[in-house]
This record gives sequence, C-alpha cells and structure tokens, in this order.
Amino acid sequence: MSIKQNLLKIRSTLPNEVALVAVSKTKPISDLMEAYDAGQRIFGENKIQEMVDKYEDMPKDIEWHMIGHVQRNKVKYMAKFVKLIHGVDSLKLLREINKQAEKNDRVIDCLLQIKIAKEDSKFGMDAQLAHDIIHSNDLDNLRSINIVGLMGMATFTENMQQIESEFKYLKSVFDDLKKNEKDNFHLKVLSMGMSGDYLLAIQCGSTMIRVGSSIFGARNYS
Ligand SMILES: *Cc1c(COP(=O)(O)O)cnc(C)c1O
Repeated sequence: MSIKQNLLKIRSTLPNEVALVAVSKTKPISDLMEAYDAGQRIFGENKIQEMVDKYEDMPKDIEWHMIGHVQRNKVKYMAKFVKLIHGVDSLKLLREINKQAEKNDRVIDCLLQIKIAKEDSKFGMDAQLAHDIIHSNDLDNLRSINIVGLMGMATFTENMQQIESEFKYLKSVFDDLKKNEKDNFHLKVLSMGMSGDYLLAIQCGSTMIRVGSSIFGARNYS
C-alpha cells in the first residue's frame, strides 16, 4: 500500500479527539511530502538535526514534534519552530528549553516523559519526579514553557497484557497529576501508542499516537 493509503486507513480507525503524529525519522523528504499531500500536518522526528533539515526543506504549515531523547546543547537549534517536545525528562532540560524559548520570543509546549517500560534502555522520569517538578517553585519561574501533557513508551514486547498495564499506569499518573493546575502546567495531551499498539493505547486513554512504520514502512538504519 502507498503512504497515502496507509494514512487514510489509520485515520479511519481514529476517534476525532486523537491526534496522529506521523513519525518520519530516517525517511526521505519525498516520503514526507507524500504524507503532506494526503493532508498530514504533524510530523515527529527523534533527531534534532534531521528535524531542522526537514523543517527547512518543507512547507511551513507543518507542526514539528521532537519525540526522541533531547540533548540540552541542541535545544537551541529547534527552539524557533518546534511545536511540541515529547521527551522532557528533567528539570534541567525544562530550564534550557525555557531559556531558548525566551530568546526566540516563544512559549514552547512540552510533555513530561514518564518511564513506564521495564527495559533500562527507555528514557523518562518516574512519576514521583514529575510530581516534584510540578510542585517545585522552579516551575513558576519558567514562563516560556507550557507543560501540556505526558508521554510514555511501553516495553518492546509481544505481550499485550504487559503493554496494557503500562498504558493504564500512565493514564492513572496522568489523571492524578491533572488535578494540579498552574499557569504553565495544564495537562491535555497523553502521548502513547505506536504502530504495534496504538489501538490499545487509545482504549487506555491516549489522545496522541506516534506512528511510523505503519505509515512509511519499515525503517532501514544501515
Ligand atoms: C520511532 C518512534 C515511534 C514510531 O514507531 P513505529 O513502531 O515505527 O510506529 C514512536 N515513538 C517514538 C518515541 C519513536 O522513537
């Protein structure tokens, strides 16, 4: 099936309130443009340099989401255009995003990445740290960021029950933290679900899915 057909098929299964991030990492501009021409406007990348290059080459009505691990020294390269940063895993990183957003006269939306997988390889903070950040006075001083939600990645496994319990856990953390509101902390987005598990994620309360290979085909890293 073509990229367009894949997109239309996935979209037809999504409730209206669920946003689709087309994860285009490693894929060429021509593939992204095929998705763009089929109406896709949200793209997700996991490397800042690659996202900057694609941003420069593509139409300017695209929302670019950084879904990968963010190195603090590279935030400056995306600060002028990034729409949403999914992988925020420390207060230090929030401070840097705030600084670079300020320089660009912007307010940048962020998600806190919560570690829900059992694997050591996955990034993210535990729920307690998210809780501490929200209640810290530091957050009040960060006027150029908005924490709008949470993101999580389930364990890489075929075991759907395990994935489901991790998604349900993230949803419970989301519901719990949502009770706290501040000017720059207002949870609306729950980013969970990828090609293999997005339907399950939606059942568990996801409002934003990040789908790559089911749209663009398998990635070739060689
Ligand atoms: C690559 C990636 C995805 C998409 O994975 P697929 O299985 O290809 O849909 C989603 N989220 C993150 C954080 C990723 O790095």
